[in-house]
Amino acid sequence: MRSGRVLARDAVHKEGDTVELAGWVDARRDHGKIIFIDLRDRSGVMQVVFSPNISGASDLRLEYVIRARGVVKKRPPAMVNDKIPTGEYELQASSLEILGKAGELPIPVTGDGYDVNEESRLKYRYLDLRRKRLKHNIELRHRVTQFVRAHLSERGFIEIETPLLTKSTPEGSRDFIVPSRLEPGKFYALPQSPQQYKQLLMCAGFERYFQIARALRDEDLRADRGFEHTQIDIEMSFVEQEDVMEAVEELVISIFERFGKRILKKPLPKISYEEALKTYGADKFDPREQKDKDVVGLAWVKDFPVFVRDEKTGALTYSHNPFTAPKPEDEEKLLKGKDLEKLVSLQYDLVCNGYEIGGGGIRVSKPEVLEKVFEVIGHKKADIQKQFGHMLEAFRYGAPPHGGIALGLDRIIMILTGEESLREVVAFPMTSGGGTSVMDAPSEVSKGQLDELGLEIKKAKKKHG
Ligand code: ASP
Repeated sequence: MRSGRVLARDAVHKEGDTVELAGWVDARRDHGKIIFIDLRDRSGVMQVVFSPNISGASDLRLEYVIRARGVVKKRPPAMVNDKIPTGEYELQASSLEILGKAGELPIPVTGDGYDVNEESRLKYRYLDLRRKRLKHNIELRHRVTQFVRAHLSERGFIEIETPLLTKSTPEGSRDFIVPSRLEPGKFYALPQSPQQYKQLLMCAGFERYFQIARALRDEDLRADRGFEHTQIDIEMSFVEQEDVMEAVEELVISIFERFGKRILKKPLPKISYEEALKTYGADKFDPREQKDKDVVGLAWVKDFPVFVRDEKTGALTYSHNPFTAPKPEDEEKLLKGKDLEKLVSLQYDLVCNGYEIGGGGIRVSKPEVLEKVFEVIGHKKADIQKQFGHMLEAFRYGAPPHGGIALGLDRIIMILTGEESLREVVAFPMTSGGGTSVMDAPSEVSKGQLDELGLEIKKAKKKHG
């Protein structure tokens, strides 16, 4: 028989009705003659009252999964709990079914969990996620994602998936690489971003693209940066810098306002890279004078140099990514190799409360300009052809002017929830040492798997831990 289950939250509208609740035993108070259970489901908790003659009621323990049927009743006034939304009601149970037993839990699942050791929280993430705070964060993330999808779709953007197994993209980070079985000795790279594909989609004529994209970068981990992150990835054709910034500004302001924040200053202030360094000593800063909980300080930073000197090698390298175009007035200089360090790019970054939450730019769409950028940063002609020949070629068959941005979804959710770590807004995050939640990866693979890939492990070296 199909269950006539209602959620705890909705049971309050069913006074006098017989309903069925299902969920976890969140709390249990056994008064001998009567047993009170707080039954928790994804919507909240509801008190269920059992008399001990109901089979199984006295066996119940915390975190058992149960189904209870009974009548929804108003609690006597003295028993009302005004701390919870269902506190005026209870279910007077007439039957009970134990669906899943639970042993003693390795971590508590009530409370906010901040004081629980992180390793245990991630090892038992499926338990950790039972807590209300994390449920709220993950649900909020879902709502933000749906909002973004609707907002962009309504404005003519279409969501397109791009491959995860791909070729290395020079976004300035180390790649995660994946060995190929069919071509032993060759590798795919996991995307540091969908950068090249989204530009190719512009060459294909889609004009307005977005993707809630996973990006993977093998960088040292921090509280606000993991190996994997999710970005709201956007690209537009036939636009100038201001057009992209305007569209993104509308989206970002809508997200924050829709989810309860006030924007410190609208339209968003724009400041040059040079000014940011002078005023704040960095290109990432907090525009708020006071850290007011519900106010977000957003600002654009632009006019970045096209090239900067690498601190270690002293060689010129791109300041953001090699695909960002110089200002039109600087294009000639670039092609002539003049004043290279003074060239200004069409890059823009978005900062929010001290975090960089987005970055993008108008792209180079002329093959000779892109080739020159690679030359300046030290690539040999043959290498450019090998690594980026496909982009140069695509630009030779009619490339529209285009530009875009990537917004860090994880960071936006951190700001909306007030969380200080990425791990609080991702369902299955990594440990600070790069281990996965619950499952023990990275882990060794069998000799057979290595043989199939034509690989041999030299000597396992541990970098961290
Ligand atoms: N690909 C860049 C990044 O992921 C963003 C962009 O320029 O669109 O940081």
